[in-house]
Amino acid sequence: MPGYYVHLAASNPLARKNRSFVCGIESPDLLKKYYSSYGLDGAREKYNIIKTNDMPDFLYFESRVQQRENNLSSNGMHYGWSSNPNVICYWDSLTKSEKQNPFYIGYLWHLLTDLFMYKYLNIESKLSGFAEQHKDDKNISELMKTEYKKLHSDWDKTNSKIKSTYPDVVLTPEVLELDVVKFINDDQLAYVDWNIIKSITDYMRTINPLDQDINKIIDEIMSFLPEQNDYSIGTLNKKLTLSKYKKIKRGV
Ligand SMILES: [Zn+2]
Repeated sequence: MPGYYVHLAASNPLARKNRSFVCGIESPDLLKKYYSSYGLDGAREKYNIIKTNDMPDFLYFESRVQQRENNLSSNGMHYGWSSNPNVICYWDSLTKSEKQNPFYIGYLWHLLTDLFMYKYLNIESKLSGFAEQHKDDKNISELMKTEYKKLHSDWDKTNSKIKSTYPDVVLTPEVLELDVVKFINDDQLAYVDWNIIKSITDYMRTINPLDQDINKIIDEIMSFLPEQNDYSIGTLNKKLTLSKYKKIKRGV
């Protein structure tokens, strides 16, 4: 999945100066990780160390962090699977003042980035295509393991590419402490399409969600999601040029 590094890169450098926004960006994955590593009490303790005044009490997440994420509900920290988060369910659950709070906006940004990237990367159907192709192979479970490994190292390779493309991105102490962000220097990607990551990252970081009408941003991103199974980078880029926000030089 897009890791901490991708998520930070896909957020506006100015907005990233706001610590609560950054904590919001990290929270869907960070709290999940805290819970799986340290249990509920440990997660609460860890959360309280990074908590700013803009951030809700841990109680806010307590039932959600224990829920299993799945594709048929809006449960868990991603309001569904991280590859298909129910962004609207999250946003609609917020009060008017929460919708203006940098932490909740950062959290939204994480879910939007997951949704947008996963939709175009279309990884699950690539994997099921592979499974279908090899369904009669008696080593199918071994073969699938290898494919998942490839996908995993794709993300480590993506981290290296993010690092060289966006040198402004700095990992935070709480992420460094997890020691989960790895780097592999290799351009050969099996499942992740770097051009898609790059286009979406460039677009997302152009927008500073802390000084924009978020509802319009959500509408725009929803209108950019793939239609009729067209996941091509050409179509994506064509849609991105229609952006109301992206009056940009590339790589801002
Ligand atoms: Zn995520």
